Amino acid sequence: MDARSAVESMLRPDLRGRTAYGAPQLDVPVALNTNENSYAVPDVVVSAMTEAVAAAAAGLNRYPDREFTALREALAGYLSRGATMVTPDEVWAGNGSNEVLLHLLQAFGGPGRTALGFTPAYSMHPIITTTTGTTWVDGMRGVPGAGAFDLDPASAVAQVRDHRPDVVFLCSPNNPTGTALDLAVVEAVHDAAPTALVVVDEAYAEFARPGTPSALTLLAGRPRLVVTRTMSKAFALAGGRVGYLAADPALVDALRLVRMPYHLSTQTQAVALAALRHADLMLETVGAIKEQRDRLVEGLAAIGLDPVPSDANFVLFGGLADAHGTWSALLERGVLVRDVGIPHYLRVTAGTPQETTRFLDAITDLVPTHR
Ligand code: PMP
Repeated sequence: MDARSAVESMLRPDLRGRTAYGAPQLDVPVALNTNENSYAVPDVVVSAMTEAVAAAAAGLNRYPDREFTALREALAGYLSRGATMVTPDEVWAGNGSNEVLLHLLQAFGGPGRTALGFTPAYSMHPIITTTTGTTWVDGMRGVPGAGAFDLDPASAVAQVRDHRPDVVFLCSPNNPTGTALDLAVVEAVHDAAPTALVVVDEAYAEFARPGTPSALTLLAGRPRLVVTRTMSKAFALAGGRVGYLAADPALVDALRLVRMPYHLSTQTQAVALAALRHADLMLETVGAIKEQRDRLVEGLAAIGLDPVPSDANFVLFGGLADAHGTWSALLERGVLVRDVGIPHYLRVTAGTPQETTRFLDAITDLVPTHR
């Protein structure tokens, strides 16, 4: 038996034949495919991070602070800048919000349990769900007569009542559609699922348009609600791998049952703390990115394509005859965007003004033959 077949026969039956998640990591001049922040970490913060890691290096013979106490305090302080006070015992963190979501599924999902999400949404939600042996239920977005990608409270509630999931995923602003959810939907879903964990993935919260409140404002008195965030997007720290959540201290405590001890390395904690000490500087690019996002929406509409209004740092746009063909043609012009698998649509991240111009020029060139 060759190695591949030997491995295949050992593999969990539910994983056989699957392909691994992964956006192409290509070396291109204009990379607008993974919703990163296009701006480099500012020099002052680079120095602070370097000094923090240097100061910690001699102590790497010891395990890191398993409770990442200082990091939880700093994250609670950052979240408390908004409308809601968050305390350190309400905060949990992991290596990216993907790991935080994994901890949630490990603790509250598992064999015999189900998780419901509303598709199209973040493609890792079903993957994390199924890798923990939890059954995924593919719910539907779409309001008849309204925006094709909006989620309306009545439909969401009906789906929750039908499927009786143990975990419900909401994503606001939603990836890949970009739209933020009305808090009424979060409340309605929460109330319709009287025993379920309700996860609101707010990876892109900092980019939301004014008047879009965070689900953090709903946490008080709702121990089944959890809001996940990340330092990968607005905070320009995708390579640092730090995601976090806010929830009731009792829920946070349950996650200690499933995390690996010392899961956040000393370096990760030091780098994240240095970034959080310079939060204003790290977040300085958010305004510029939102401008480019709005420019994408306007520019795409102006050439007859169909952009979806966005509260995130990316724009989903439709109106393409063959989305994958357009994806390839953009790549030939040095511009990498994301084919999220929705027919006739592609997703593009808002980059620097120069990157956004490169993209808009390329797509404008292509439109006459690709629409
Ligand atoms: N949630 C959403 C909605 C995302 O789009 C992403 C990244 N693409 C993540 C979570 C995970 O990001 P990270 O693990 O870098 O925090």
